[in-house]
Amino acid sequence: MEHSCEAAVITCIDFRFWKKLIQFLSTQGLESYDLTAMAGGAKNLVDGDTREMVFRQLDICTGKHEIKKVYLINHIDCGAYGGSAAFGSSEKEEIKLTEDLNQAENIIKEKYPSLQTVKLLMEFDQTRVLK
Ligand SMILES: [Zn+2]
Repeated sequence: MEHSCEAAVITCIDFRFWKKLIQFLSTQGLESYDLTAMAGGAKNLVDGDTREMVFRQLDICTGKHEIKKVYLINHIDCGAYGGSAAFGSSEKEEIKLTEDLNQAENIIKEKYPSLQTVKLLMEFDQTRVLK
């Protein structure tokens, strides 16, 4: 069996979202990927105290499994952010989650310049691919 895969997926542990994520990824034609689930998903790249832990996973994904892409996921009402209530409004929540996805993307591009990135913002009723 081939020992490489297409992508790494960095997502949250939240049970309300990871099953939907796996379904969504299959609709995108993604067949094989390494899955890292940590509370906060992409937030773990933005936070200096957890970034190295994500890098340790990605070093294996790139070194052993020759991934070409990283999927970065954030979701609405994430406990690692204090839930939706912590933001004051859904607009502010979306702005912060999007900012963190953009920052996580920049961090990936700096450390792993050859990798493509895909940013997903998950809501209860939809998953959006961000530009
Ligand atoms: Zn979460």
